[in-house]
Amino acid sequence: EYVIVDGEILDRTVAKVDIEDRGYQFGDGVYEVIRVYNGKMFTGKEHLNRLIESAEKIRMELPYSPEELESKMEELISKNELDTGIVYMQFTRGTSPRNHVFPGGDVAPTFVAYTRKVARPVESMEKGVRSILDEDIRWLRCDIKSLNLLGNLLSKQKAAEAGCFEAILHRGESVTEGSHSNISIVKDGVIITHQADNLILNGITRQKVLEICRNENISVDERAFTLDELSAADEVFSSGTTVEVMPIVEVDGKPVGTGNPGPVTRNLQDLFKAEIERQCGK
Ligand code: PLP
Repeated sequence: EYVIVDGEILDRTVAKVDIEDRGYQFGDGVYEVIRVYNGKMFTGKEHLNRLIESAEKIRMELPYSPEELESKMEELISKNELDTGIVYMQFTRGTSPRNHVFPGGDVAPTFVAYTRKVARPVESMEKGVRSILDEDIRWLRCDIKSLNLLGNLLSKQKAAEAGCFEAILHRGESVTEGSHSNISIVKDGVIITHQADNLILNGITRQKVLEICRNENISVDERAFTLDELSAADEVFSSGTTVEVMPIVEVDGKPVGTGNPGPVTRNLQDLFKAEIERQCGK
């Protein structure tokens, strides 16, 4: 199995990162996860652009263009003969003696990437999944896809211990997103999802779903919704790179709507699958 370290493709068993890498010590870096179907990246350009934006937001300049990154990822996917899965990539602010202050310009970012086989979660997408609520205790720059995920991990662990797929996060009465996905509700045919601001990660899947809605004349309201609106919703779904459009059928032990995936979510799943097939083939 091949990986990329510092831009070089090499065997995973010989790959090395220094113990004073700033990603390891501080979580000082950014990352992306891109879906691969039939050996092709889905919405790859959007992910690579967001990676560069995340880097800029933490004042890191990446030594690669999006085109160079794209061709490196294609090379890795093909060397690993990946069919359906993900490619993970991260840039940290490099290796230098531990100090909160950024290292000088002579220190290059550390670039690491690998691939993994991940099937489409067809059974969960069919049946729907359960969720819990959890207070969103994260920082105020959730728009950056940074390596600092402790708040997300604590919430996801709580969900996992409750036998649930996702923790729906809220700041007081206002729902933000999930621990590892964006959350939308459906009320009277309208899709409501938190606006893309500093309190959520503007998911590429979220953006693709909204684009599909605009093309299909499905109404969308991009605004924060409340916990009361969540519990009165007809449908709830989660969206993310690996989970696509995932129906949520239970929140904190209470059924959503009928307790089964609803028609609007089903329709979006079909339209999303058509978009995957358009970009990556059947
Ligand atoms: N929100 C959070 C906190 C995430 O970790 C993710 C990642 O999957 C998402 C939303 C969804 O983003 P995307 O659709 O780009 O995968």
